[in-house]
This record gives sequence, structure tokens and C-alpha cells, in this order.
Amino acid sequence: PVPRVAIVGRPNVGKSSLFNWIARRRLAIVDNYEGVTRDRMTTLIEANDRFFELVDTGGMGVVDADNLTDDVRNQIEVAINTADVIVLVVDVQTGVMPLDEEVSERLRTVQRPVILVANKADQTHHDILADDFHRLGRGHLIRVSTTQNRNRDELIDLIVDRL
Ligand code: GDP
Ligand code: MG
Repeated sequence: PVPRVAIVGRPNVGKSSLFNWIARRRLAIVDNYEGVTRDRMTTLIEANDRFFELVDTGGMGVVDADNLTDDVRNQIEVAINTADVIVLVVDVQTGVMPLDEEVSERLRTVQRPVILVANKADQTHHDILADDFHRLGRGHLIRVSTTQNRNRDELIDLIVDRL
């Protein structure tokens, strides 16, 4: 079976942007997730002669779309149940938020590799802002910007190394 990589994180950190950036939309497959009204985002990626399925867990299986905490909880359930590698996305420009702490706390007991992706590091002066996320204590930290195309290859290498 193809290993699965789940993207998790609170709303607006850039999970869907990261998904499309890694996939470059070329292979994106959008299918309906059984029993829920939202779409599941999943795509097959080939990188460094390896394959993996990338899953954007944001907005999956949401009962109450306004209940962000339920969405985050559901993401973690999806990640625990399906993922071989977890990509936890945070936003360097907002800094650590309570929901970031909740997500990382919920990942504490998950026995899978976690990569902490500090997104929106658009310029080098944003890089230092990422340091604060070390206190989440979850996995290798990498600074990226999906909009400025920073560190895409480095992130893919980190993922593939953990498959
Ligand atoms: P999601 O809710 O986690 O899926 O986040 P989205 O992918 O929908 O992105 C939320 C917002 O962040 C959008 O307005 C994106 O354009 C923006 N965004 C995503 N990546 C970056 C980035 O690297 N830099 C900046 N400045 N904005 C970004
Ligand atoms: Mg999204």
C-alpha cells in the first residue's frame, strides 16, 4: 500500500495551499468523502522515486462548520487512523495560537513521525519568528512559504525520508 501523509493544523495556516503547492495541482484528485458534505482532498505524489498519498484533513467530516475545535479534533482522528507521517502546519506570522497547542497536544501520543511546517515564512526576517514553535515540541521544524515558493524541495525530502 502507498504510505499516507496527513496535513493537519488549525484553520487558515495554509494547509490547502501546502497541499496544492506540494502537488502542484498536477495530480490532484478531489473525491467525495463518504457520509460527509465536505470534500476530502487526497492526491498521489511521486518524489525522489517514492510514492505517497497526501491528504488535506482540513474541513473533513465537520459536523458544525463553525466549530473549529471539532474540525481540529477530527483532523487528528483522521491522521491517527490513516497517516504514516503527519505534517503539522503553523503560521509564523500569527505566532503560536491556542489551537496550535491543542493540535500538538493531541499529537503527543501519536507514534508517527511529525514534521512541523512553519508556513508563511515569506521573507528571511520571518524565519526567526518560527523559533517560538519549538516549544510545541513536535517533530522537525522547517520554514516554508507556499506563496514565495520557499523550501519546497527541502520539505519533500523530509517527508520522503520518513515514509
Ligand atoms: P487552510 O485553512 O489551513 O487550508 O489555509 P489556506 O490554504 O486556505 O490558506 C489560508 C490563507 O493563507 C490564504 O489566504 C492563503 O493565501 C494564505 N497563505 C497560504 N500560504 C501562505 C504563505 O506562504 N504566505 C502567506 N503570506 N500567505 C499564505
Ligand atoms: Mg483548507
